[in-house]
Amino acid sequence: MSSIADNIKRIKEQTVEKLISLGRPEDDITIVAVTKTHPVAVIEEALRNGISHIGENKVQEAIHKIPFITVPYEGFHFIGHLQSNKINNLLKLKPMLIQSIDSLYIAQQLNRSLGRKNITQDILIQVNTTAETTKSGVNPENAIDMIWQIAALPCLNIKGLMTIGMLSPNPENTRPYFRKLWKLKEKIEAEKIPEVQMKYISMGMSEDYLIALEEGSNMLRLGTIIFGTRNYGGTN
Ligand SMILES: *Cc1c(COP(=O)(O)O)cnc(C)c1O
Repeated sequence: MSSIADNIKRIKEQTVEKLISLGRPEDDITIVAVTKTHPVAVIEEALRNGISHIGENKVQEAIHKIPFITVPYEGFHFIGHLQSNKINNLLKLKPMLIQSIDSLYIAQQLNRSLGRKNITQDILIQVNTTAETTKSGVNPENAIDMIWQIAALPCLNIKGLMTIGMLSPNPENTRPYFRKLWKLKEKIEAEKIPEVQMKYISMGMSEDYLIALEEGSNMLRLGTIIFGTRNYGGTN
């Protein structure tokens, strides 16, 4: 079994090699280590070995871990489905980026909470490119309308898009969905929506991150490939 440090080193080497082969700058990437199910000590091990961004998908879990991390890091990312009754707890964790805004309703609720605190928040819009009903995300056809509306909310700054690929034994199957997100990004840029930036394209997980890089991703969300298989507790 390889260690977390080895895994991170290998992923970084492969990522740099891929970016160079694509003619992209080798620092044109943010790796978000997805730390769900993993305890603080494991998160700290990753932070000591080259990781500076971490992501969690459940507020309830994050509030029991994030405040207890003693190794410095650059950013905490929220990447899961956000419920309105969890917004205040999430904001206490000072997320650098909430990657998973998927409805006007949740954006409005978030905007209201931020307004009361007189702060702003960077967000990504989660797009359900694969049209799987089990997944969150706005459908691509409605994304531009939704972005116009969210862009008008004063406390939210849209910084890009996030999608989850097709979870499939063959990662190639996910390429068309990554392309779809990239096309949508170009359309949104062409709309020139005030205050909206397409700075981050968050796509690519453990199985498909090299393909995601080929399709333009500049933010990877990697869990299993860094930490090994997750144990969700209970019976195992
Ligand atoms: C769990 C999760 C990941 C990481 O998945 P791996 O396949 O373990 O790399 C990435 N993005 C989101 C939204 C997740 O929930």
